[in-house]
Amino acid sequence: MKRLQQEYQPMRRVFYRPRQIDSEDGKYHIRKEEPSLPRVCPGCGAISLQKRWFFDEALKEEIIGSGQFEYDSCPGCAAAETEEVGGVVVLSGSFLEGRIDEFVNAIKHEEESLHEDNPASIIINMAASQDGIVIRTANPFMAERIGKRLKKAYDGELTIVWSHEDRLARVYWSREG
Ligand SMILES: [Zn+2]
Repeated sequence: MKRLQQEYQPMRRVFYRPRQIDSEDGKYHIRKEEPSLPRVCPGCGAISLQKRWFFDEALKEEIIGSGQFEYDSCPGCAAAETEEVGGVVVLSGSFLEGRIDEFVNAIKHEEESLHEDNPASIIINMAASQDGIVIRTANPFMAERIGKRLKKAYDGELTIVWSHEDRLARVYWSREG
């Protein structure tokens, strides 16, 4: 069947692609196709087939094995590269005394589970001192979720302030005693 197809090839299909003038050399070039190839994030290994990014190790190996893909940063890694902050979580209060490591670990654990659901959910940076912890996240929902998790696990006071048309969340969690 395969051989037959090769011998009797139908009329060759010709795809016409719009052309554009390259701004650098002033010549016509075939426009680069829309990113229809599968994309693989070199930072975290997330993959994207259409627009959505997700994790699938077996599918990733298959895509890389096929050679038909391109490397592209996922939204989370892109945000980390440009340090585009979507959320800020500030932890304070005397309850943190002697518990900084515990909180840092709990937040890292939370990041892992959020990141698994959505590769765009990453912590850009986290700074801990004896006075408290400041966490910057790539997306605002992640900051909100961390705040709510802390409230659920440790009680305390939680304040969430949305700004910049809900593109930035400032989350304050505090507990005394
Ligand atoms: Zn990534």
